[in-house]
Amino acid sequence: MKWFQNFSIKNKLTVIMLTVALLSMAVGFTFIIISNIKTFTKEMLENTHIIANYTADACATPIAFNQPDEVKSAIEPIRSVAYIESAYVYQLDTKDLLWKWDRKENPNFITPFISEWQNGQRDLKNEVVFIGEYLHAFKPLYSTMNLGAKAPVDAEIVGWLYIRASRAPLDKKISEYLRNMSLVGIGLIVITYFLAVRFQRVISEPILNLASVTEKIRITSDYSVRVKKEGKDEIGILYFGFNNMLEQLQVREKQRDEAMEEQKRLMAELEEKNKELEQVVYVTSHDLRSPLVNIQGFSKELDFSIKELGEMLNSGDIPQELRTQFDYILQEDIPDSLKYILSSTSKMDALLSGLLKLSRVGRTATTLNNIDMNELFTEISNAFEFHFKEGNVAFSVGPLPPCYGNDVQINQMFSNLVSNALKYRDPNRTPVISVKGWEEQDRAIYCVEDNGLGIAKEHQKKIFEIFHRLNPGDSQGEGLGLTIVNKIIGRHNGKIWVESEPGAGSKFIISLPKPRASAPPVNTTSDSVSKNS
Ligand code: ADP
Repeated sequence: MKWFQNFSIKNKLTVIMLTVALLSMAVGFTFIIISNIKTFTKEMLENTHIIANYTADACATPIAFNQPDEVKSAIEPIRSVAYIESAYVYQLDTKDLLWKWDRKENPNFITPFISEWQNGQRDLKNEVVFIGEYLHAFKPLYSTMNLGAKAPVDAEIVGWLYIRASRAPLDKKISEYLRNMSLVGIGLIVITYFLAVRFQRVISEPILNLASVTEKIRITSDYSVRVKKEGKDEIGILYFGFNNMLEQLQVREKQRDEAMEEQKRLMAELEEKNKELEQVVYVTSHDLRSPLVNIQGFSKELDFSIKELGEMLNSGDIPQELRTQFDYILQEDIPDSLKYILSSTSKMDALLSGLLKLSRVGRTATTLNNIDMNELFTEISNAFEFHFKEGNVAFSVGPLPPCYGNDVQINQMFSNLVSNALKYRDPNRTPVISVKGWEEQDRAIYCVEDNGLGIAKEHQKKIFEIFHRLNPGDSQGEGLGLTIVNKIIGRHNGKIWVESEPGAGSKFIISLPKPRASAPPVNTTSDSVSKNS
């Protein structure tokens, strides 16, 4: 039935209506034709019966009175009946053929039952039967006059009349009837077809109209069009529902457009704000560094001058009491203050340089390339070689799959992670840092694992936030390293997550895009930077 499903609704309806009409016509016609053919046959049988009965009555008297010549005139009337072809009269005693008439001589024709009757092998019956192409009537001839189909009371059979009638007129009548019925049938089929084509429109046209409007909406995405409701039937309900749906779609589309407009506006605003913020961070961190360098420089200068002053004091002629007071100020007070100034400025310097790096990640345009990560990690381990030796760190790098990104930023990101693994090592055991990598579908996955202090569950997300540190008193960092990592990850459409347990160690897992066939490979050793740059 799949072929039928692909028909247009017009053709489907026409086919359905035609099929139903044709089936009912076929059943009705078959019934009428069969019953009419039966009636025609019955009529012929009855007519032949009547003709045979009257002829038998007419022949009976000449036979009974032994006047065979009279039979001829008795039979005469049936010659005028066109379909009667032969009439034979037999005597009962001798079973001889007394008289015979044939419309057309046919020597090959054998009268059924007669030879068996003449041989005594069968009796004849008062009957009219169809055998082959003919209708055969056998009628007894009674000694007494009989004006009916039934045998007269006390009558004796004196002979038999045999009449042969052709069934050609019956066949002709039937075939003419069938031809007429076929013509009527064909006429009805044609009328039914035109009516089906006409009436299917009542259902198909509104549906086709709906389909064309739907197609129009699909092409133009114009939800302002409507279908014209015509009736109150199910199609009317469908139209109403369709129009209603279009109205809702229109409203939603408007709302969506407005929301998108608003989203665009907010995005632009956000981008603007972000740029402003980055600019502020950049300017602040960059510009603050020069006065800071001055403060650092002059503090050192001051330290030097104090030392000089101390030496001068020692050599000059100054009262002992005053000398003791100066000594205290020069040896204790001022160096103490200078120490604090210097440590604060270097802390501030580190903070500002971290902020500067963070702002640079967002500000610089990134060119993306296919990166050989094994090469990149050779460079990172060279940069950290001194620290590894100094901290007796077991550092290992497994074979790493390549990835797609900006080599400078990827280098910085992994440098920060290795640097953290070094910084947050457990003082009670030999530090072990390993880097592994593998591929998953279209991603390159890397894992930087250490056996350091570990990070409690509740901090694992927060450590990526700006300035978030687990031990703020710890002088080792500024709370910016992982923020930079996160920002680089965001710019590379990557992902980072932590698996860690306090006291056991941490795993930083990074997912980055795999290399692209179209992108050229990059030689990381020529243009990369280390974390500390
Ligand atoms: P910083 O190291 O400068 O403090 P980060 O943003 O790099 O800043 O890290 C934030 C905090 O996350 C760190 O202060 C540290 O407490 C914790 N952390 C980061 N990496 C590790 C690590 N590998 N093991 C344990 N703690 C870590």
